[in-house]
Amino acid sequence: MDRPRITIFDTTLRDGEQSPGCSMNVQEKLHLAQQLDRLGVDVIEAGFPIASDGDFEAVQRIAASVRRPIIAALARACAGDVDRAWQALQGTARSRIHVFLATSDIHLKYKLRITRAQCLEQAREAVRRAKSLCADVEFSPEDATRTEVAFLCQVVEAVIAAGATTVNIPDTVGYSMPEEYGQLIRTLREKVAGIDKVTISTHCHNDLGLAVANSLAGVQQGARQVECTINGIGERAGNASLEEVVMAMRVRPDRYAYETAISGEQLFASSQMLAEITRVPVQPHKAITGRNAFAHEAGIHQDGMLKNPLTYEIMTPQSVGVPDSRLVLGKHSGRHALALRCEQLGHQFERRELDEVYRKFVVLADRIKKVQDSHLLELMQDVIRGDVSSGNGDAAGSQGKKFPPAAATSPYPRAASAAAGGNGHESHPAQVSGSAGPAQARPGHPAPANWFGGAPAPVADHHSEQEDYLWGV
Ligand SMILES: [Zn+2]
Repeated sequence: MDRPRITIFDTTLRDGEQSPGCSMNVQEKLHLAQQLDRLGVDVIEAGFPIASDGDFEAVQRIAASVRRPIIAALARACAGDVDRAWQALQGTARSRIHVFLATSDIHLKYKLRITRAQCLEQAREAVRRAKSLCADVEFSPEDATRTEVAFLCQVVEAVIAAGATTVNIPDTVGYSMPEEYGQLIRTLREKVAGIDKVTISTHCHNDLGLAVANSLAGVQQGARQVECTINGIGERAGNASLEEVVMAMRVRPDRYAYETAISGEQLFASSQMLAEITRVPVQPHKAITGRNAFAHEAGIHQDGMLKNPLTYEIMTPQSVGVPDSRLVLGKHSGRHALALRCEQLGHQFERRELDEVYRKFVVLADRIKKVQDSHLLELMQDVIRGDVSSGNGDAAGSQGKKFPPAAATSPYPRAASAAAGGNGHESHPAQVSGSAGPAQARPGHPAPANWFGGAPAPVADHHSEQEDYLWGV
């Protein structure tokens, strides 16, 4: 297949690190850079060396130890910054100097207090200097989306002539709309001499929640590099989220037929590592990497998932490195999901017993919201004790305690942490699967049945299936 290749430029360590509460020390940055390498990003923007000694050192250390990706260092458009960036990049296998200068009138007038002519000259001069040091030079006209288009074209043309190899078009304040941003990229391609010789890049902020949509719109109009961050962290509302951009292209190749070198199976680990290092948790419903991104609670969803994951799942959890899909047992869970969980905990019930377990389960779920395995075990024992003839001999040992209040919320409710069953996944264009092959039950984590198709689902007759739908959304 001949899909255009999109360069993934990760700026978690630079723009991401600028978000409140997300600063990292040198060791932490190094650790994360190594994970970004495993993830398969093409470029790591490691820092802004002139900004602090810590940033300088971080770029230096990353440059020395992470050898595959290009390591980029940020610099304002002035000699001191460019030289310091280059100094920090000494020893890299592949380096890039990233020069930026604001181009919108509002920034020129109030922030930089220079004219357009001065801006143009300063950009050209800084790129020339960077190019004299490093073959790979990126230029960003800051606040590009609020820059008069004719002037933006003029600046971009000038920096290309001065040697820039990548031109990045930042929506610095997250103001653009997808069509508008796509149109801007198209205009640059139509009007700027020499633009076909360089890579056009997107850098979108999420102030209106459109960073990913804008990035994708840019790609559709010819951008071939996307700047993004893990978990979408970054200034204010953040940057385009790397995992969302990558998975949008992977799940919808019919719309976005582009390739990246990202290893999807490393996305979740990268997200978790960043959250651990910064202690900024991922919002539970965050697309791709939030803890609820693959959880299904409503009964009709759970029932459908158990019959065929394609009913509610557009990509497998394994494809983004999430160990399994979590079916949370709550009061909206159906009989089918409950029966399977009981079976995984070692108890197979006849229809009549299951009715009893289910009745008790619904009462309990109404009280404590999330039913943990420990609760379920106790509840099952009650039913078993009430009916000795059921033949389960292991009913001992659970006397005394009566449904403790639900434990403090665990990030991954054990009630659904059974090993994922990859075997049952059918290959289907509408669902993205992991390339690592089916996940196996881990030693010490017995999973008598798989959630998805691997083992036959517990028998549910037509009547009980219909009942499940009463608990639907
Ligand atoms: Zn930014």
